[in-house]
Amino acid sequence: MTDAPLLLTPGPLTTTDSVKRAMLRDWGSRDPEFEALTAQVRAELLAIANAGDAYTAVPLQGSGTFAVEAMIATLVAPDDGLLVVANGAYGRRIAEICARMGLKHDVLDLPDRAPVPPARVAEALAEGRHRFVAVIHCETTSGVLNPLAEIAEVCRAAGAKMLVDAMSSFGALPCDAAETGFAALAASSNKCLQGVPGAAFVICDKSLLLRDDHRSPSLVLDLAAQDRQFSADGQWRFTPPTHVIAALAQALDELRAEGGTSARLARYTENCTQLIKGMTALGFQSVLDPATQAPIIVSFSEPAEDWFDFQQFYDRLKAEGFAIYAGKMRDRATFRVGVIGDVTPSDIAAFLDAAGRVTRAMTERH
Ligand SMILES: *Cc1c(COP(=O)(O)O)cnc(C)c1O
Repeated sequence: MTDAPLLLTPGPLTTTDSVKRAMLRDWGSRDPEFEALTAQVRAELLAIANAGDAYTAVPLQGSGTFAVEAMIATLVAPDDGLLVVANGAYGRRIAEICARMGLKHDVLDLPDRAPVPPARVAEALAEGRHRFVAVIHCETTSGVLNPLAEIAEVCRAAGAKMLVDAMSSFGALPCDAAETGFAALAASSNKCLQGVPGAAFVICDKSLLLRDDHRSPSLVLDLAAQDRQFSADGQWRFTPPTHVIAALAQALDELRAEGGTSARLARYTENCTQLIKGMTALGFQSVLDPATQAPIIVSFSEPAEDWFDFQQFYDRLKAEGFAIYAGKMRDRATFRVGVIGDVTPSDIAAFLDAAGRVTRAMTERH
């Protein structure tokens, strides 16, 4: 395990050896022990979201986008009207899901570089055309933190139900059901929860799963049917990712042992502050206003000078033991460095040393 690079990415990310070891056992998917493990994980996910009895946590197979698509397919009927708030690639992906499913929707297309202004959401909702609003909590495209509580307030005032993609924030940044009253929230095992990839979940207001005028057009992405199955006999409808769920259970134990989401957020925040400070000292510029930067992943502008070539920068860092991430912003060339996972400030210090060596070697050749 030691020759694998440290992943400074938004996930899959570096997990602890104990999380990896939790996958060394095979589980019978219909065995009561696995049923109990699933029930325990579902209860813990609800607790992290501070979601009471009105909510259910429905895990499903697949990556995060499977959960986002299941959330929309299950909850939003074709004529409901969904306002998609997009300030990055993940918001735009939700618009694509709506288009594919033929859902009535509008896209509030905003710049990638700044948080969503709640007033713009209020304006878009003023016409009363939308029963639902979809919003990204941390837009991983840039790393910007959207003001979830304020957007929730705007949705509440307009009588619209908020659907949250909290993929890259859940487990570190507060995503509180009681405070925001979200209708549903989607996230996955392999980001701030520090599990392995292969399972995602939706935390959902149960009453929305009881509609008799709509059901998911997809058989597998039907959260209502899966929730009914869990209630009936505790079973997954289709082969569960048993090892991934076992690893997630271990990861949730480790989250608790670390001191919960606030302790995890504190570690990520320290990683992030140190990363930006060190990279700035090396001459790199982070893209976002620090006040809007989520401590999850940081976008840096690619230096315009000839010496910089992302692939070479990536390969040299990888040879030093660190995997960074390509950029994804619409209007500029960037690369990204994640600060989440089993990563500490001393790892960030080691990364900065390596980035210094790589940068010097690359600039000297020019
Ligand atoms: C990672 C991520 C997703 C899901 O991506 P997958 O590749 O399907 O796991 C969705 N939204 C956001 C904001 C993300 O960061």
